[in-house]
Amino acid sequence: MPLALYDTWSRTVRPFSPIHAGQAGMYCCGPTVYDHAHIGNLRTYLFEDVLRRALIRNGYEVRHIVNITDVGHLTSDADEGEDKMEKGSRRTGESAWAIARHYTDAFVADWRALNLLEPTLWCRATDHIGEQIAFIDELERAGYVYRTNDGLYFDTSKQDDYGYLARLDRAGLQAGKRVALGAKRNITDFALWKFTPPGVKRQMEWDSPWGRGFPGWHIECSAMSAKYLGAWFDIHCGGEDHIAVHHSNEIAQTQAAHGTRLANFWMHGHFLTLDADTKMSKSSGDFIRLQTLVSRNIDPLAYRYLCLTAHYRSKLSFSWAALEAAQTALARLRNLYWSWPEGGCADAEFIARFDAQVNEDLNLPRALAVAWELAKSTLPPATLRATMDSFDTVLGLGLRDWKPVKSDIPENIAMLLTERAQARADKDWAKADRLRQTLSTLGWKVEDSKDGQRLIEIGLETAE
Ligand code: AMP
Ligand code: ZN
Repeated sequence: MPLALYDTWSRTVRPFSPIHAGQAGMYCCGPTVYDHAHIGNLRTYLFEDVLRRALIRNGYEVRHIVNITDVGHLTSDADEGEDKMEKGSRRTGESAWAIARHYTDAFVADWRALNLLEPTLWCRATDHIGEQIAFIDELERAGYVYRTNDGLYFDTSKQDDYGYLARLDRAGLQAGKRVALGAKRNITDFALWKFTPPGVKRQMEWDSPWGRGFPGWHIECSAMSAKYLGAWFDIHCGGEDHIAVHHSNEIAQTQAAHGTRLANFWMHGHFLTLDADTKMSKSSGDFIRLQTLVSRNIDPLAYRYLCLTAHYRSKLSFSWAALEAAQTALARLRNLYWSWPEGGCADAEFIARFDAQVNEDLNLPRALAVAWELAKSTLPPATLRATMDSFDTVLGLGLRDWKPVKSDIPENIAMLLTERAQARADKDWAKADRLRQTLSTLGWKVEDSKDGQRLIEIGLETAE
């Protein structure tokens, strides 16, 4: 079964066919580096990593570009407020440049901890100011740009199909406008270049033919994707929040300058939510980082496992109990994998079943279920290992790189704890209580908190 992917542009799942035979170009909107990434952001990169691995598995040579937004992203998507970098600088007392470096490094560390394949190229917005100015210049010559006292804006009324990606109701938006337009002509118009206000010295500013200032957020992606992938490439990705504004604006710019909608496929990862529908966001300050998980003894790859259990086009509601259950499942898979000897051949039938799920718009929850069926099957152990090795090129759980560790907790206690984590995840409180009793009889006290279970050997409790 050939690879089929959901395309937000056409709102359909359709077969992937490359623009250049045997190759796939992918552009993924990367982080705004004024703060740490939260695990919601990381869910989007995990989805993109699985996509890349699926493309590789289907024989494509992938060129994967990820940008680093280190200038121009304002606190409001409506081109108002402060530059997030300059705001971060005021918050921490460090220079905007130092902040960008610091959070880029932290981001790359998270990236590697999640076993995400290194992009072909990371590209920084501030390293491509010349390309962005040249792009705006083209837009101006094509008649899409007007000037106000605070910057240059893209005139979206010049495009009949502006906002098609989001199926935007422009007439409705215009009629019900509640947001102050300022000097903008249309509510959907957006900044291409912002002037440094007179008498102000910004940390990040450049000269341009229109005056000193800095680029708008959207232009970097149109300019850098064109430079590294061409004006028409295979797949553009990001989180679902980018559909309405950021990606619609990238398309508007590239359509005006190059006559394409950038990418043949537009793919979007759905959000990680905190509870019913609260999205996790950086700006609210209420977010969980990968390091938060690590400090609670959660392996970053357990988070990867958790993300594999939900389809990328459905919301994933985060809970510590679900994460613990993922960690338990990963531990079981690792231990099973390491109990199997090397030297076998992969089982063709299982491979075909796994690939069919992966190729059906990246149905990783089902692919993972096939992996578990394999693990529990009666095939020869060496076959199990070889087949699982093959699956792991897509799952990316790094099974081969993990080494069994000896724990201070006796095996029977660890098993009971695992069983109890599952009972808690299933909300089977009676079973969880029974298991607590059993553990207590065996000399182990278990405490529950919203962060999961904590195990204490009776007699070794430290006085508070
Ligand atoms: P940012 O650093 O805010 O520019 O976002 C980086 C990426 O994370 C973008 O592709 C966003 O669409 C995505 N994103 C933001 N919040 C979430 C969330 N709660 N769940 C999943 N993806 C998200
Ligand atoms: Zn972008």
